[in-house]
Amino acid sequence: MNTPSGVFLEAQGGEEDVECFLRGVREQAPPLAVISSVRSGDMTPVAENGFAIRESGGGGNAVQIAPDCDVCPDCLRELFDPADRRYRYPFINCTNCGPRYTIINGIPYDRSYTTMAGFTMCDQCRAEYEDPAHRRFHAQPNACPVCGPSLRLFDSRDNNVDGEPLETAVSLLKRGKILALKGLGGYHLAVDACNDEAVRELRKRKKRDEKPFAIMSPALADIAEFAVFDETEKRLLSGPERPIVLLRKREGNHIAPLIAPANGYFGVMLPYTPLHHLLLRDAFPALVMTSGNLSDEPISYRDDEALRRLADIADFFLTHNREIHTRTDDSVIRVFQGNPIFLRRSRGYVPRGITLPATQKSVLAVGAELKGTVCLTRGDKAFLSQHIGDLQNSATLASMEETVHHLGQILKIEPQVVAHDLHPRRATPPCPYGVLHGGKRVGGSGTRGDFRWYRIRTGWNHLGRRISGRRL
Ligand SMILES: [Zn+2]
Ligand SMILES: [Zn+2]
Repeated sequence: MNTPSGVFLEAQGGEEDVECFLRGVREQAPPLAVISSVRSGDMTPVAENGFAIRESGGGGNAVQIAPDCDVCPDCLRELFDPADRRYRYPFINCTNCGPRYTIINGIPYDRSYTTMAGFTMCDQCRAEYEDPAHRRFHAQPNACPVCGPSLRLFDSRDNNVDGEPLETAVSLLKRGKILALKGLGGYHLAVDACNDEAVRELRKRKKRDEKPFAIMSPALADIAEFAVFDETEKRLLSGPERPIVLLRKREGNHIAPLIAPANGYFGVMLPYTPLHHLLLRDAFPALVMTSGNLSDEPISYRDDEALRRLADIADFFLTHNREIHTRTDDSVIRVFQGNPIFLRRSRGYVPRGITLPATQKSVLAVGAELKGTVCLTRGDKAFLSQHIGDLQNSATLASMEETVHHLGQILKIEPQVVAHDLHPRRATPPCPYGVLHGGKRVGGSGTRGDFRWYRIRTGWNHLGRRISGRRL
């Protein structure tokens, strides 16, 4: 069974078999499993046979939530197999791939705590979901064209566009139109990356003068046409996290110059949802795939909000009815002297825990004003949030507040200490935790390095329980 502290297993059999099983747990773990520790002990055998999964239970709080992940090779093969029942189905996934962090709204990680809760599985999907030998056994976002989410294409006044949404979207992009596209963690704005006029128009409407646009290409071979990459960059590009990687431009490439003017690099990524694969394959060597926002505002992720905010930028919207619960931008990495450096650690990596040298009090760190993220610690693990942005407007501040709340909720963390940048003109109030959640700062503040710390004594935290503070 799944418990909030992790997976709990009972196995019985001959000693050798049980040991072999225990080794298998580590050595043959599914691709997305991250095993932080295995603890085992003896039990008295019981007269039971067969295999059963019990209802998820409560208790403990050591659980970790998986990041979102690119389509796995098996699903990709099915996606383009005309004989498969999920042929060209934009929401194909399995236990080895698909959305996670962006659709989870509670724990344990069960379908009822995701934005897939409203979709009832058809008999075929249900059979896969319940079959321990199947790749979709307990794949929470499991879906097919019969029972799962579907696409919708409409114009900037919310009028449906005739025709098959995906094919029509491709032909609109070919004609140089600007498409708002609902992705994993938010909306992108897409245009044909080789169409100078379309890129110019996007830049104008987005009010973005110079900052480069990210590009998505269907395959490494297409990227090699316009950018240069080494083994490390190749590995990063094609890893399941699918970040944007900064790559040196190749001389004489066909990418519109306005994508990254006065810049020696392109920000490039490979497709990471079935929808991306379907949109790009055999259609475009590269699409601009830039965050769906006005400059300096957070990426749009709710449908009505996206329509409102992007109606003046996008000509058309390609969306679907699977809700995004958590806004998450693309991650951005640059390789420097052979080592990857995060310029933005977000989708694909969040909320993977980072191990600290020692167990400590739970800290909420709200970081600095520019390129903000938050961090919550629990025991010897630190959980950094997705990229939130520059905290220079109310929309971004609200996004930070949402993130603190959500991360605390799914990881079951009640911070005892708050740390933030000491800059006196930082946009957040002096004790962000207090203002965010109605708490009140009392006594015991001080400075350590660049950070100010506080003791917090009164007020209610975001989990609705009273908090008390201790020294960091
Ligand atoms: Zn898969
Ligand atoms: Zn189905």
